[in-house]
Amino acid sequence: MDKLVSLCKRRGFIFQSSEIYGGTGSVWDYGPLGVELKKNLKDSWWRAMVRMRDDIEGIDAAILMHPRVWEASGHVAGFVDPLVDCKACKGRFRADKLEDARCPQKPSKHPGEHTTCQLTEARQFNLMFKTYMGPLEETASVVYLRPETAQGIFVNFLNVQQSTRQKVPFGIAQIGKAFRNEITPGNFTFRTREFEQMEMQFFVEPGTDEGHFEYWKAERMRWHHSLGLSPDRLRYKAHEQLAHYARAAFDIEFDFGGTLGFQEIEGIHNRTDFDLSRHQEYSGKKLEYFDQPANKRYVPFVIETSVGADRVTLAALVNAYREEEVPGESEGRVVLGLHPSLAPIKAAVFALTKKEGMPEMAHRIAGELRNHFPVDYDETGSIGKRYRRQDEVGTPFCITVDSESVTDGTVTVRDRDTLAQDRISADAIRGYLTERLPG
Ligand code: ATP
Repeated sequence: MDKLVSLCKRRGFIFQSSEIYGGTGSVWDYGPLGVELKKNLKDSWWRAMVRMRDDIEGIDAAILMHPRVWEASGHVAGFVDPLVDCKACKGRFRADKLEDARCPQKPSKHPGEHTTCQLTEARQFNLMFKTYMGPLEETASVVYLRPETAQGIFVNFLNVQQSTRQKVPFGIAQIGKAFRNEITPGNFTFRTREFEQMEMQFFVEPGTDEGHFEYWKAERMRWHHSLGLSPDRLRYKAHEQLAHYARAAFDIEFDFGGTLGFQEIEGIHNRTDFDLSRHQEYSGKKLEYFDQPANKRYVPFVIETSVGADRVTLAALVNAYREEEVPGESEGRVVLGLHPSLAPIKAAVFALTKKEGMPEMAHRIAGELRNHFPVDYDETGSIGKRYRRQDEVGTPFCITVDSESVTDGTVTVRDRDTLAQDRISADAIRGYLTERLPG
């Protein structure tokens, strides 16, 4: 993880927030390559969950919602983690995750295990960030930064259903920021206080929920495979304790390696009719679906798929990072073997030297390709160095213009993973890349 964090900073994937002021606790900024990577990941999710389906609609709900939403959802009363303090070292820990934490004074032990530890009784800490709407900082104007995107979907259930004339079963999806005042954030972008969720709520007739749950469980795992996450680093984990609203819940876990190991990246939950019923009760507005052919009304059940864009971006980086020997070279190379659909730059174009019309031709090629793919142009340093720079950020193809290119119009295209080089006509590059780059 340390090597990855350093690569992310050096190459402009992820920076610490407000770094020049010493950084903000567990808040991160995405740099030029990181923003492209995360955007590609979100696009892949949006395409799979919204664009490719006629039974799911997308929305973009506001972060600030009516405060009653969070009373209805149960977050004001119950979105809490148990917090313990250590009077000896002033450390603060989640009482239910002591096994994952280290004693600051004796890192080989967990908090509470060292002789000097003095842990307090656990007290409940609400994870929602509070702020005030309008100029008066008083109780009546308290609003929350949403701790999940799902509630924006529940409160819009009828707006979406009626405006699109969707029939149950159908889903609503959105991607957006969520905020949690986590007690122990950390592990780079794995657990942060501000993050992005990609959530989909699928509304189904009660009694059909189990079948839909199984369907979504399999479908979501397929999506993680499609990103190139290694199947042996992915697994399902059934929740041992179900939340009060849930009838079934599974996590998809990814093996981050090191001390983190397998950790949740997505949750699939059968939320029953809990949320819509509660919003019905708290708002006084009916949130029933009218099934015309069957002439009956009911509050749908909800199957939810909830995945963190930042957490899967981190999983994709961990999955992609490798160090390897290069045959015939003394120095090895660092490669981000990102799936081509996620790679921030799809192709890099190099002029072998700055002479004989090579830069002009390379610029022309890069300019033409930019209409279709994110492309980088580089003419500095040895060709070997330029390859290494692109390998390190996961660029699938490097195109080199040499003196032969200027006379016969051909270029070499080098594959990031196999290192194989093809000599092709410059006119054929676009087709060559299109064939090999999905999406
Ligand atoms: P955890 O047990 O790790 O706190 P959770 O069970 O509370 O997670 P959910 O409420 O199910 O998580 O959220 C769905 C997804 O949102 C998670 O699978 C994860 O990918 C992402 N997520 C949740 N909390 C965070 C966070 N603090 N930082 C980054 N991503 C998060």
